[in-house]
Amino acid sequence: MRILISGAGIAGPALAYWLARYGMTPTLVERAPRLRTGGYVIDFWGAGFEVANRMGLLPDLLRTGYAVREVRVVDRNGQKVSGFPADAFSRAVGSGFTSLPRGDLAATIYGALGDTTETIFGDTIAHIDQTKDDVQVTFERHGSRTFDLVVGADGLHSHVRELVFGPEQQFERYLGIKVAAFEAEGYRPRDELVYMMYPQVGQEVSRFSMRNDRTMFLFTFADSDPKSPSDLAGQKALLRDRFARSGWECPQILAAMEHVNDVYFDRVSQIRMDRWTQGRTVLIGDAAACVSLLAGEGTGLAMAEAYVLAGELRHGGGDYIAAFARYQERMMPFLKRKQESAAQSASSFAPKSACGITFRNFVTRLLRLPFVADFFIGRGLRDDIKLPDYGF
Ligand SMILES: Cc1cc2nc3c(=O)[nH]c(=O)nc-3n(C[C@H](O)[C@H](O)[C@H](O)COP(=O)(O)OP(=O)(O)OC[C@H]3O[C@@H](n4cnc5c(N)ncnc54)[C@H](O)[C@@H]3O)c2cc1C
Repeated sequence: MRILISGAGIAGPALAYWLARYGMTPTLVERAPRLRTGGYVIDFWGAGFEVANRMGLLPDLLRTGYAVREVRVVDRNGQKVSGFPADAFSRAVGSGFTSLPRGDLAATIYGALGDTTETIFGDTIAHIDQTKDDVQVTFERHGSRTFDLVVGADGLHSHVRELVFGPEQQFERYLGIKVAAFEAEGYRPRDELVYMMYPQVGQEVSRFSMRNDRTMFLFTFADSDPKSPSDLAGQKALLRDRFARSGWECPQILAAMEHVNDVYFDRVSQIRMDRWTQGRTVLIGDAAACVSLLAGEGTGLAMAEAYVLAGELRHGGGDYIAAFARYQERMMPFLKRKQESAAQSASSFAPKSACGITFRNFVTRLLRLPFVADFFIGRGLRDDIKLPDYGF
């Protein structure tokens, strides 16, 4: 089978890996001119961790990743007000656990493809024409080609979804929060292996020190208007407006932002669909069922979806219709539960009131106790899915 995958993020290359391993012929098309590196730091665990294990990636991921020691909550003067040892988190989710830049995870998965997969960088699909026997795809820059199947693995704002299933508004559920993240070099202070969080009413800033003197910053803030400035200057202005008078290290973090050209900025949304397949086209990862950063698990879930879709295609022989149906049947209820649970945690990322912050600080302090961590973290985050064995 010739399978075109749009998007070389997490889901796309993971799918290509398994398809190639099962003897199919994947092709990746990625809009960016090269693999996107760096980016925000993600937590990685659960079903995706197990898929990475089956791909033999764990030694590399654990070497690249950070074993965070402590999650520390501070007040506007930088005084510690709460926190917990980070191993409470790994213990509660019941699987291996690491934290690493999203781009490093993407590069590790992509690196595992070797020369099995053709990648077209710097292009995107302009048109999809599905027939009974195949799919004619026209690229914006590389002409037209024929494939047996097309997979949309192109993220929250999926272009394949837009082309085949319709406008994003039908499927997007905005959670009332915006997010911005960037990396800066040489920032001080550094608190090695401590994830620093400064919550305020309606917003939060976090920082995490990485290797090579780099620091990652993450802003989340409540905003009832889903629209955002589309240009970097407008996005920086909005962040200055929201955080300049916020206390803690906000003024100096904003000063560091001024020297940076790459700021991730988006609304925090989920994608909720009733079907992920349409003819010979299928969606995976954020394109199909974005859980949002609130779940802290989108990468792992994207990898699990990729693993199951490839496995079902192998299992189904040429019967892609049955394979698509089994993939959706296995994964959709699980993803819907994850979305529900993530949506409930929105107030943790942009606390609604001073009382909410006090309560959260209280709970965070109690997370030192294993049974409390298990109740508050494990309940919603542990993966209640058993990955099938597809014969490798
Ligand atoms: C701030 C933040 C923090 C997060 N924290 C965590 C966390 O702690 N743990 C976790 O597991 N997850 C986390 N996530 C979620 C996680 O990043 C995503 O769920 C995950 O990256 C989804 O993978 P994906 O491959 O589906 O999409 P993406 O990683 O978004 O990849 C999509 C790819 O498609 C490409 N693309 C887009 N449009 C086109 C097009 N038209 N044509 C071709 N290619 C295209 C993009 O360039 C990109 O390479 C976080 C997300 C955010 C925003």
